[in-house]
Amino acid sequence: DTPAIVDVDDALLRDWALPMPPHDGDKEGRGRTIVVAGSTEMPGAAWLAGIAALRAGAGKLTLAVPASVAPGLALLMPEARVVTLADPVHETDAAHPLTELLSRCQALLIGPGMQGEDAVCRACEHWLGAEGDYAVILDASAMGAVTGPRREGRPVLVTPHAGEMAHLTGLSKDEIKADRERTAREAARRWNAVVALKGATTVIAAPDGRTWRHDGGNAGLATSGSGDTLAGIIAGLAARGAPLEQAAVWGVALHARAGSELAKQQGPLGYLAREVPGEIPRLMHRLG
Ligand code: AMP
Ligand code: MG
Repeated sequence: DTPAIVDVDDALLRDWALPMPPHDGDKEGRGRTIVVAGSTEMPGAAWLAGIAALRAGAGKLTLAVPASVAPGLALLMPEARVVTLADPVHETDAAHPLTELLSRCQALLIGPGMQGEDAVCRACEHWLGAEGDYAVILDASAMGAVTGPRREGRPVLVTPHAGEMAHLTGLSKDEIKADRERTAREAARRWNAVVALKGATTVIAAPDGRTWRHDGGNAGLATSGSGDTLAGIIAGLAARGAPLEQAAVWGVALHARAGSELAKQQGPLGYLAREVPGEIPRLMHRLG
């Protein structure tokens, strides 16, 4: 039998505290995050996701982006180490220069702003199969890799909105919207992955059947780059040591609350995705 669906509220979050670093902890212990993201046309997605991971408390950030984007991004983001990939990424390129870094990271996010779905998903086979104890968050054009091979025991999470879920499953958007809970649960079981099916209501389902529902946020979150920040927040939380289902539940809640805060400060429409990450530390502290 399937566990009941749990609504995400303050009480749930307070009971399910995020891992905190020891007071004398250094950045190595607080989560190395790698974000593989961006393309010539969408370089900013890497910045949005990377900043969000740091704002969620990741300790050390590496961005892997196309060579054309790297110099600008490195200057824009002095907090990150920046390594280069080809654009579009190809398989031989996937191994280099990340292999060494992967073996020492805790969370790997792939996909925001990347182009060329087939090539991205083929490169993912390397990143999902490489040695190391890291969890993988697949977003945007990398999500197709959720059905591909991976190293045994590697935790994986995908973050589709209804349109992407339709593309991944072959169901229609209407079918998905008619029963988000069931869609997310079935996919989580079939793919052996945590599924965060995004929307005004977001359903998070774990492969073992545990399922959470989050209502709320603000329609202003339906804006360019918004999902990139959510994926980054989840990656940052996972890098701190949160299991992927906790990182997803907390990440979705923090992202939605950031939207509500920005709506209060600026008005319900027109705030920017880049403004979401800055809200996270205070919200996290208030709930933790
Ligand atoms: P993406 O489409 O990948 O940019 O992701 C959009 C993000 O905004 C997801 O986290 C959604 O859950 C969130 N979102 C979209 N529309 C709404 C809405 N009407 N209310 C609250 N959150 C939303
Ligand atoms: Mg997206």
